[in-house]
Amino acid sequence: MPSQRTVFVGISELVQPLDSSAGNREPLSIVRDAAMVCHAGMIEAVGTRKSVLDSLDSSDVLEVDLQGRAVIPGFVDSHTHVVFAGDRIDEMAARARGETYESIAKRGGGIARSVELLRASSVEDLVAASLPRVVSMTARGTTTIEIKSGYGLTPEHELKQLQAIKRLRSLTKATLLPTVLAHGVPKDAPNRDAYIDQFCSDVVEQAARLGLARYCDIFVESIAYSKSEARRIAECAKASGLKLKLHVDQLRDGDGADFAAELGALSADHLECTNAAGAAALAKANVIATLLPGCALYLGGHTWPDGKALADAGCEIAIATDCNPGSSMISDLGLCATLGATQCGLTVEQALWAITRGGAKALGLHDRGGLRVGERADFVVVAHSDWRMALYHPGGNTISSIYVSGSLLS
Ligand SMILES: [Zn+2]
Repeated sequence: MPSQRTVFVGISELVQPLDSSAGNREPLSIVRDAAMVCHAGMIEAVGTRKSVLDSLDSSDVLEVDLQGRAVIPGFVDSHTHVVFAGDRIDEMAARARGETYESIAKRGGGIARSVELLRASSVEDLVAASLPRVVSMTARGTTTIEIKSGYGLTPEHELKQLQAIKRLRSLTKATLLPTVLAHGVPKDAPNRDAYIDQFCSDVVEQAARLGLARYCDIFVESIAYSKSEARRIAECAKASGLKLKLHVDQLRDGDGADFAAELGALSADHLECTNAAGAAALAKANVIATLLPGCALYLGGHTWPDGKALADAGCEIAIATDCNPGSSMISDLGLCATLGATQCGLTVEQALWAITRGGAKALGLHDRGGLRVGERADFVVVAHSDWRMALYHPGGNTISSIYVSGSLLS
């Protein structure tokens, strides 16, 4: 971490997402002709070029001229399954031929295939397979990544997956945050209740005790956990000091949003089928509504989450990639923000908020995503004077450089 003070000048516009987006179609503050001072990984001063330079002691300051480019916060991907073994390329090809996700799962594909591949892998295998994906995320501007377990299902393999996430943390400058995911009861488990008891004690509690997880996520759907089962796991997670996140209302409207509000989850994720009462409940309980539009893109585009309805109900919205080998093999969070604006009814300002401040809030983080004094100096320099270029041209060369804790990401 550089101890020298760095002042960034030549910033055409510096985008500061507001602390809250509730009820706001344009939740960004924009400083034109800006400058920013970073020191010891943090933002020390930010504002118009004149105000920052007038109050800066110019001795021992490194000046970096961004030559008229825009600056936005580093992206925060609050929902991924990026640590996995092998691939499911054949399933993508089968779907393109007309086979459904359900029929592929019935013949042993889907999540069961990822479980099989993960169980046959070592921690080292998982790290080697997953690091290039983490690199592809950071290269597209993501500086904070949440990563879930959930492909092991047994204590041994769940903890192995979490160990791989821990190992990856030392191999990237980005912040990686681990989540233990209760993904479902394995088909060969003789007794659901006994399995859940063991999962609570030997996976959730153990992961918390070993410092291998910061959050607990539960897949609440008819094919995974019922609400009463999820409540048991949630209570265990909370008692273990883990923050709660939920996968809800993905396949059908199961009143999952209400359930997330009732449990006081940090975020409710997916929400493709959430009803109006659920949206209102999330807003009232300050649960971040997390959209995963990569799934709709990847699986055929029939189930776009209704971001506009959620935002109009007063929800604060995050967007994440849900990067996983089956339903969203997408590591570009900027692309997902573009989908938020083009397919989910959000404004471009709401979409950028959703991958910066919104992602941070979905992880309970208050030290990033806003480019304010005292926050981490994680930011993206857009290869254009207009920040919106970052969402306008997904896959294009829209990023000039990326800084993590004030240092250039190599
Ligand atoms: Zn997911």
